[in-house]
Amino acid sequence: MHSADIVVLGGSAAGITAAITARRHHPDKSILLVRKEKQVPIPCGIPYIYGTLGGPEKNLIPDTVLDSNKIDLLVSEVTQIDRKQCVLATGEGEVRYERLILATGSIPTQPPIPGVDLDGVFTILKDVEHLVLLQQRLKQSRNIVIIGGGFIGIEFADEINKIDSKNVTVLELAANCLSLSYDAEFCSEMETLLLSRGVTVRTSATVARIVGDGHVSAVEMKDGRSVSADLVILGIGAKANVDLAKETELRLGLTGSVAVDRTMQTSDPAIFACGDCAEKISFFGGGPSPLKLASIAQLEARIAGANVYGLRRESDGTLGVWSTAVGDLAMGTAGLTESMAKDRGYEVVAGTVETPNRHPGGMPGTAPVKVKLVFEKHSQVLLGGQVRGTASVGELINTIAACVQKRMTAEDIAMFQMGTHPALTASPIAYPLVNAAEVAISCMQ
Ligand SMILES: Cc1cc2nc3c(=O)[nH]c(=O)nc-3n(C[C@H](O)[C@H](O)[C@H](O)COP(=O)(O)OP(=O)(O)OC[C@H]3O[C@@H](n4cnc5c(N)ncnc54)[C@H](O)[C@@H]3O)c2cc1C
Repeated sequence: MHSADIVVLGGSAAGITAAITARRHHPDKSILLVRKEKQVPIPCGIPYIYGTLGGPEKNLIPDTVLDSNKIDLLVSEVTQIDRKQCVLATGEGEVRYERLILATGSIPTQPPIPGVDLDGVFTILKDVEHLVLLQQRLKQSRNIVIIGGGFIGIEFADEINKIDSKNVTVLELAANCLSLSYDAEFCSEMETLLLSRGVTVRTSATVARIVGDGHVSAVEMKDGRSVSADLVILGIGAKANVDLAKETELRLGLTGSVAVDRTMQTSDPAIFACGDCAEKISFFGGGPSPLKLASIAQLEARIAGANVYGLRRESDGTLGVWSTAVGDLAMGTAGLTESMAKDRGYEVVAGTVETPNRHPGGMPGTAPVKVKLVFEKHSQVLLGGQVRGTASVGELINTIAACVQKRMTAEDIAMFQMGTHPALTASPIAYPLVNAAEVAISCMQ
């Protein structure tokens, strides 16, 4: 029988970080990570396998990170959790734990439409063999349809479009791609770019059925339109993987994920949960949140890993920060968009500025950067922000996320001291983060 003080079940974004955090906070404890797959793909890198990277083997999480943190590894599927005995059943025998951290992640959502089980229809599983098969099938296919125009759908579309002789079409239910996380003016810029790169984008497109005789041949929409398809990728979201938790009667939350409190403790005090399998509450108002992101998994894992032998950390809830990139266009979002904030009942003031990201504008690499900040009108508290620009967007949106998390006001941000350099940033006079706050303040007076 295997045994460890702390057992982490799951070897991806949440599991690895929970184990490393447990090692940092509990140096004298033995830690064992159990995962079912031999090799773990980097989830966020999966779309890039098919264009930029060239293969699943170039997108793997190295196990050296476990070795260097003295974390033991068992590769085996867990088939049962016996909470009374504190034992997991695995293909490699039993595993005894004192504390258990569940990080079993999520599985893709299958839409309830006819034809999803046809040959040639793929979900996006975080599994190397599946990703290899998808690559082989893509090589044999010409007409590729991606259902879902969220960030995963558009990243897949652009990467597959980089392979010669492919017709790639994105079908999005809403009026815009990315509309769950960006205001319309940002979404339409991304759509225009995708079109200019040869990807067909059809919005307000409700898929009625996927058709074919054994193998997929087309996707039909409710308005009668149809798109030819040799291969279909479903990119419409994911649901928590809770089979083991359910079977062992851990409490589930309102969204069907494993119920946890702010310390990531489940209904069993010896078991914590983090990442896509754990129930989330929103930073805004505390209601249930459907978001599933690596940024959230990391936060929760750093809480769970620290808390297993006495509570040290709590979550403020999920605010939702992420970025995406197609070609040279990068976009980032944190917190609430203007339209989301209004829908939730906030009275908002937004400040938007656009400026070159270098100074003077003749410096190499100069490109426009646009920042939109959304504030609650009466308190001036920052509710969210969106950025469009080039590579530096990834870090700028993280700064904005930190401002949201610390509930900074427009005045706090306007008073920032920001370092600038001609080759690296916008001009100090036009620094977009500070100026977007100033623009909003002028609209509040
Ligand atoms: C294509 C794609 C792109 C993405 N891009 C981004 C991005 O750019 N930014 C971002 O923030 N988020 C992104 N995400 C979301 C992000 O990847 C997830 O939020 C993150 O992977 C969650 O990590 P996790 O460890 O909770 O779960 P998972 O990654 O789902 O991992 C679950 C782990 O548990 C193991 N496991 C489950 N059941 C068992 C069992 N019974 N026995 C043993 N092991 C088991 C699995 O094998 C796996 O190792 C993306 C997701 C996808 C699919």
